[in-house]
Amino acid sequence: MGQKYQQFYRRSIEDRDAFWTEQAALIDWNKPFDQVLEYSNPPFARWFVGGQTNLCHNAIDRHLDARGGQPALIYISTETGAEKTYSYDELHEEVVRCAAVLRGLGVGKGDVVLIYMPMIPEAIFAMLASVRLGAVHSVVFGGFAPASLALRIDDAKPKVMITSDAGMRAGRVIAYKHLVDEAMRLSQSPPEKVVIVNRGLDSNMAITEGRDLDYATLARQHAGEDVPVTWLESSDPSYVMYTSGTTGKPKGVQRDTGGYAVALAASMKHIYCGNAGDTMFTTSDIGWVVGHSYIVYAPLICGLTTIVYEGVPIRPDPGIWWKIVQDYKVKVMFSSPTGVRVLKKQDPEYMSKYDMSSLKHIFLAGEPLDEPTHTWLTEALGKPVIDHYWQTETGWPILTSVPGVEETPIKFGSPSFPAYGYDLKLLRESDASEADADEKGVVAIIPPLPPGCMTTLWGDDERFVNTYFSTFTSKLVYSTFDWGIRDRDGYYFILGRTDDVINVAGHRLGTREIEEAVQAHPNIAEVAVVGVDDQLKGQMPLAFAVVKDASRIATAELKAAEEKAVMAKVDAQLGAIARPRRVYFVSTLPKTRSGKMLRRSIQALAEGRDPGDLTSLEDPGALEQIQQAVKG
Ligand code: AMP
Repeated sequence: MGQKYQQFYRRSIEDRDAFWTEQAALIDWNKPFDQVLEYSNPPFARWFVGGQTNLCHNAIDRHLDARGGQPALIYISTETGAEKTYSYDELHEEVVRCAAVLRGLGVGKGDVVLIYMPMIPEAIFAMLASVRLGAVHSVVFGGFAPASLALRIDDAKPKVMITSDAGMRAGRVIAYKHLVDEAMRLSQSPPEKVVIVNRGLDSNMAITEGRDLDYATLARQHAGEDVPVTWLESSDPSYVMYTSGTTGKPKGVQRDTGGYAVALAASMKHIYCGNAGDTMFTTSDIGWVVGHSYIVYAPLICGLTTIVYEGVPIRPDPGIWWKIVQDYKVKVMFSSPTGVRVLKKQDPEYMSKYDMSSLKHIFLAGEPLDEPTHTWLTEALGKPVIDHYWQTETGWPILTSVPGVEETPIKFGSPSFPAYGYDLKLLRESDASEADADEKGVVAIIPPLPPGCMTTLWGDDERFVNTYFSTFTSKLVYSTFDWGIRDRDGYYFILGRTDDVINVAGHRLGTREIEEAVQAHPNIAEVAVVGVDDQLKGQMPLAFAVVKDASRIATAELKAAEEKAVMAKVDAQLGAIARPRRVYFVSTLPKTRSGKMLRRSIQALAEGRDPGDLTSLEDPGALEQIQQAVKG
């Protein structure tokens, strides 16, 4: 850690109130706060108490005088060929119109709006319109299948859902509305109204009269209406974002309003080095936390131009990202290791074809960045590639270098240092004491969590405490569920999860969720799902299943058909992102004598490693079967 950053960091921890008061000046407040932090009921933290603000006001309205004509959002779709720029004035008009539509459907403060949409500007209008009204949005990633969507509907209980007829991915039409219809059928508490942005991509779209409404028609009806910003208390919720954990039930990460706005504005200044007027290109999706923070809120709150890209990194050719950088003079770029690994396999000529002089840094997150990919991208671009580590729960980086304060040398394979505001420790699993340099520990944060981080789980304070703050009985600390290590220079390295969560192409999946989906197939008696190394996606799930009726897998053909059927079940329950790379059929699974599944041993064997201590194993034959299955 450089000296300058060290001072900055120390101040954020030791002189917390003064530090965050300074950062809070980066946003607009309708009413100033009276107290920086209210922490009388740990681990529940309320930031900027008494202050009133609004995310939509900060993202749009406050810029109108100074930069109304500046591009706010540039939409580029290599799927449909659409390209459209919205100035801050135009974005304001669109968002107010969308807010008028939602208001017309009875949406007001505290109501939930569920957004299940492809990467189109209307998805962002809907997010901003919701927070303008003081409503809480919940964006569900379009890759999730109807059953997953239904689970989220039932937890979030939205008043209104917004969707689109279809999205497109790599030239293939994905019928969103059709998936929504399915989810509405599965849901226990479906919303009364579904608003559809019709792109004209799915001519077979079915309409349920009285429930389904056309967005363009409603927008025409509400054109010209004024919708003032609803001022919220700083700690009022702004959105819920579902994420996977070790159980089959996803967790609704709840974010506040003021703390989030301040955290994002501060990160844009200190970490991403983006200033008003600059252009930022984040290659994520609005269905993920990175999309919320760095496609939508942070760039707009700070007066940047944000690029909204609907498309894949290799179409029309593998130079598309860099062409966007050149054409729109992108200064800040944010992507994922998997995206970069996809490009690494292409013709290197694409990396040098475009003028990338505008680009200052490229940030990567979401999954471990392997050293070869880090080195390759740094050399190919000739720009600093900053690996930073964070989670849906935190909303902004936990470990990062902070070039806006000090440019520190990059170590390949390391996301550098704790971000300011995080009292981060590496704790020994045995007794919660602090690990030494070069000793592995659990990456933990001493609460209160800084502004911007989750404030609770939607509707479930108890689960929030039990899930995140009860790893150690002797200390109230937030566990990231990641292993980490710090070297003697103070650089951190992330070593993988402590729980049964896997990370596929930057997307977090619970092995338990996948197991439940596999088990939904009527012939599966029992299953173990583990994550194994994958060259492209970081990790991929593998399933080992025991069938009820062995005659259905009696021949190689039947086996292959059954494997396909199980995969189809996962596609239908969770979405193709969770589909196991292989489903192997075994007659028994390795368990301890007390019945606990030996997942780590299964994973080790599947990756060709030593399975570790097996003294408690009930049936040694079970492990041999795993080994045989993988060898094929
Ligand atoms: P998600 O909330 O889905 O973004 O997943 C967060 C998890 O992804 C973390 O707990 C880590 O396991 C992993 N992760 C995110 N960023 C990094 C990174 N830069 N290096 C290593 N692992 C990461």
